[in-house]
Amino acid sequence: MSLKIGTRCLHLENERETANHFGAISFPIYQTATYAHPEVGKSTGFDYSRVQNPTRQQLERVVAGLEKGIDAVAFSSGMAAITALMEIFKSGDHLITDADLYGGTIRLFNNISVKNGLEFTHADFTNADIESMVRENTRAIYIETPTNPMMCVTDIREVSEIAKRHGILLIVDNTFMSPYYQNPLELGADIVIHSGTKFLGGHNDTLAGFVVTNREDIAEKIRFIIKTVGSGLAPFDSWLILRGIKTLALRMEKSQANAIRIVKYLQSEPKVLKIYYPGIEGTKSYEICKRQARGFGSMITFEVENAALAKHILKTTRLIPFAESLGGVETLLTYPCTQTHADVPEKERIANGITDSVLRMSVGIEEAEDLIADLKQAIDSFEG
Ligand SMILES: *Cc1c(COP(=O)(O)O)cnc(C)c1O
Repeated sequence: MSLKIGTRCLHLENERETANHFGAISFPIYQTATYAHPEVGKSTGFDYSRVQNPTRQQLERVVAGLEKGIDAVAFSSGMAAITALMEIFKSGDHLITDADLYGGTIRLFNNISVKNGLEFTHADFTNADIESMVRENTRAIYIETPTNPMMCVTDIREVSEIAKRHGILLIVDNTFMSPYYQNPLELGADIVIHSGTKFLGGHNDTLAGFVVTNREDIAEKIRFIIKTVGSGLAPFDSWLILRGIKTLALRMEKSQANAIRIVKYLQSEPKVLKIYYPGIEGTKSYEICKRQARGFGSMITFEVENAALAKHILKTTRLIPFAESLGGVETLLTYPCTQTHADVPEKERIANGITDSVLRMSVGIEEAEDLIADLKQAIDSFEG
């Protein structure tokens, strides 16, 4: 039986074949560090929770199913997932990465990975000749699409062909679309990253991260790394993410519908100069998304007249908090230049378009009218 994605948020394809846990509909939280062995050389399948825990395993099966991977590994945060993934490389390896990425990922690459001997070329994937950047020691291409925060969209199939021609890996951070709207593994990627803190968890209450792959050899390496470095997701947090995923389909649909209405409102606002949202028809991002995704998501980045207005909005919205993070049921406004991207060198940040007039909004599931009214009262009350 091949289930549709909205159903797969609630059920595994082979649910009846796995243990039934006394028929519990909500998967139990196995709050245990260790497991008794029946005798030497025999195991229940679980030995120690750093290696694996039944609740984490259930979550990993659900996420692997949603992303069409053979394996998904759950970490204590998105950054823990990316940090662990970097351990598959060795000193002297080279990676080509998107110049516009989540600030924490840039901080990891620039400070920790470089110290460990990895080399990076940061490229503008919207117009650079990526293939010409491949070197003898290049091992992977690392992208986000859409990117955080500038919403740049990359054609995953096209980049995967470059990767395949050179025998290198394609890694895609799919946090912004979630598996509900986009499945990079089906488009030729080898590894998918998620900050499960965002849309998968969906409630702004838990951190989590995932590495998903459709390659046996990589799954084996990631399993060895998680067991060794010990950054796996705890049982209770695994359960919270499992619960969040049950409503992924509903949340993605509602927040996207809200985002489309908010974009329309922003387009009518003369003090809003630029809107970065892939669902705007007539843009290149829109065309690429149409080919490779089932939607556009609910992240909007926009540039206002000046920094004073940006700061005024952050101070005067009543409903929408000024807070980092995204992908939750509550709408949030973020100021990338002092928050998510504060540690990105200023020159790089400005080159990517992240000025002090740029705001990023993660649209939640409130009623669109209320969100628009809140933004409008904040913009209208500016006397600049
Ligand atoms: C938030 C985020 C991360 C980091 O995830 P955490 O769960 O906060 O550690 C990585 N990539 C993207 C695109 C993100 O938005």
